[in-house]
Amino acid sequence: MARDRDPQCKQCRREGEKLFLKGARCSTEKCAIERRNYPPGQNGRGRIRQSEYLMQLREKQRARRYYGILEKQFRRYYEKASRQPGVTGENLLRLLELRLDNVVTRLGFAASRRQARQLVGHGHFQVNGRRVDIPSYQCRPDDIITIKASSPAETTVRGATEIGASVTPWLQADHDSLSGKVLKAPDRTEIDTPVREQLIVELYSK
Ligand code: SF4
Repeated sequence: MARDRDPQCKQCRREGEKLFLKGARCSTEKCAIERRNYPPGQNGRGRIRQSEYLMQLREKQRARRYYGILEKQFRRYYEKASRQPGVTGENLLRLLELRLDNVVTRLGFAASRRQARQLVGHGHFQVNGRRVDIPSYQCRPDDIITIKASSPAETTVRGATEIGASVTPWLQADHDSLSGKVLKAPDRTEIDTPVREQLIVELYSK
């Protein structure tokens, strides 16, 4: 299972904002963005010449990093989104939101997407009573997500629920029984990902 191995705080610093990749640490003063809010590298504090292409590229990289997806797979999401009816940028975000690792994070069962990806990959979650160990699994409305009975990850998952992040309105979570439900596919207004998806569409449609 390929994954982005770049240091997470470096990714946030490159994008110039918090992408919340490290769970609880992101809300503390240890956050690298709080301490060094400039791009990493020798010329990090230098002046960057802005261009339309650079803006589009940064937006795509930000979305990719936010969801923890590699370039090839991200491109495939874009192609799938462009074949669907409706607005391509919104379709793209919807596809990314409905990934099982993202749903697990949004339900509050993992402190970060990377942790969710690991928990799912190790088979600790079930969808509609069946074990699913594919982080990119596309959830559908009415899917029920539960932690596997007597899973050794239960303590970790309970710990994540205590961070207390609010659950998005298109999902329903029960933190006592560690189960959740996808109520519907999200609308754009229900997705708080800090990206301007139109710039990503412009980049890929060149
Ligand atoms: Fe990003 Fe979290 Fe690191 Fe802050 S602590 S820079 S939000 S990954």
